Amino acid sequence: MVKGLPSNKIFQDLSIKFLLLSFDQLYQIDEQQGLHLEYHDDENYDFWTENQESIYSILIILFQSIENFLKKEICLESPLLILSTPPSKWKNKHFNDLLIYGFDDLLKIYSELRNVEFDEAIKAALSKIKSTRNTIVHGVYKDLIFPKEIITFTNIFLKEIWGCQWLKDIRPFIPYEWETCSETIMIWKIVCILEKYPGKNKTCFLLGVKTQDLYICPMCHYYNEKLLITNECDYSYFIRKNGKKYLFCPICENSYVLSNKKCQNSDCNDKLIYSKDDFGYFCLNCEVFLDD
Ligand SMILES: [Zn+2]
Ligand SMILES: [Zn+2]
Repeated sequence: MVKGLPSNKIFQDLSIKFLLLSFDQLYQIDEQQGLHLEYHDDENYDFWTENQESIYSILIILFQSIENFLKKEICLESPLLILSTPPSKWKNKHFNDLLIYGFDDLLKIYSELRNVEFDEAIKAALSKIKSTRNTIVHGVYKDLIFPKEIITFTNIFLKEIWGCQWLKDIRPFIPYEWETCSETIMIWKIVCILEKYPGKNKTCFLLGVKTQDLYICPMCHYYNEKLLITNECDYSYFIRKNGKKYLFCPICENSYVLSNKKCQNSDCNDKLIYSKDDFGYFCLNCEVFLDD
């Protein structure tokens, strides 16, 4: 019997931590060159040329996230399936002393177990991130990598492999921000990066937002104003629950109910005011909290 079989949770935790690390590193470096600038390869050419080692390390971290995700998925069936050491040589060895399949084989096993067939474009992207990572690790990679390429790989990973479950899975790992008492700042950093590179439509898709009728979330607006992550926390949309209309934010998962109060701003007089227990009133039109 193979000793010390790992649980899938070990690989899941690693996958999530590596994904968060890759986003965090990318946000930090992108912030240095002006996160809120529009994306233009040429204008930032010098900055990205000087920071290639950072981009290389982010790509490696992202690759580790994808590989650990595949291991996790396969381990849900059995950790023995990720071993490349032939069973005749397992004997009573410890799991850690046996060999594990490489990325291509893990991807193939995953595809068979989940009965998914990736199209050629996705296969090419996954092959590219693997070969780029290997060449970087061997110390001979020469081409420039821009953040857009990293985020393209991330988008494919989340959309085609992880699926819409990704945000729910990573949420327990989002660090608490003591400065603002917020649990969503890291998610907003991720959203900023996704919005800047793949764009708003793809970001909405990854967040499970199915409407274009979007509004500012009062709670996220409040925290972002303090830390200046973004000025536009507009991913909230209306839902109906038990016959009542709510504004729901997929980032902080708060729901806000409609109030009869009117906005105090004389120029506004909008009825779009929502409240949440003990959080006061917010005018969606003026984007400000109102005095009680
Ligand atoms: Zn929110
Ligand atoms: Zn107003």
